[in-house]
Amino acid sequence: MNRKNGKAGKKLVSSSFPLFPAFLFETELLMPLIDITHPLSNATAPWPGDTQFHFEFVCRISPGIAANVGKFTSGIHSGTHMDAPLHYNNSGVSIDRLDLDILLGPARVFLAQNTLTLTREHFAGLDARATPRVLVRTNHCDDKTKFPARIPILAPDVPAWLGEQGVRLIGLDLPSVDQTDDPSMQIHHRLEKANIIILENLDLRAAAPGIYELIALPLKIAGAEGSPIRAVLRTP
Ligand SMILES: [Zn+2]
Repeated sequence: MNRKNGKAGKKLVSSSFPLFPAFLFETELLMPLIDITHPLSNATAPWPGDTQFHFEFVCRISPGIAANVGKFTSGIHSGTHMDAPLHYNNSGVSIDRLDLDILLGPARVFLAQNTLTLTREHFAGLDARATPRVLVRTNHCDDKTKFPARIPILAPDVPAWLGEQGVRLIGLDLPSVDQTDDPSMQIHHRLEKANIIILENLDLRAAAPGIYELIALPLKIAGAEGSPIRAVLRTP
């Protein structure tokens, strides 16, 4: 939001809601958002073998047609998305029944570059009571038009350790928490056992290590095992 828009917004809010102190809106306006969502486009690489994202207009504004109307098809796990426990457990919760409290609130971004194993050391300084959401920025595969061959994954002891600390959500800038050629889903299962929800394919390029407010909401797709999300960080 630029300064000009911010001033205009403050004036509008103050006159419409005189009971709200002006400083509240001033504070809000000074908190820039960082969009940590990759665009979904027809160039987005799907998980190998999964449904390619595809958007097209089925009608366009023209003589006799008043609206542009589009449609899209996509695998659930294309682009920036959330896995519901139903993805890796037949008895797990579906995306429409997830507790939204997990998806909004204090989060900490950690940097873990040039490694294929994410260890406890990469979470140095974690205080999960203050930030029960952790985001890991690897910058390993920021080009989402190409599917990576190998990706960094959590060391086997890390999910339980994060859970013991009080972490409830982990987000990574990677297409999976398991190796791309590993069908066991073992890290997914370890995270589920630790009661930790998973965000994948975040775009963390603009997120410097530090503490933010995370906002990451899924579509309410009844009975689905995941959903695309629009995820943002608000700086303190
Ligand atoms: Zn997924």
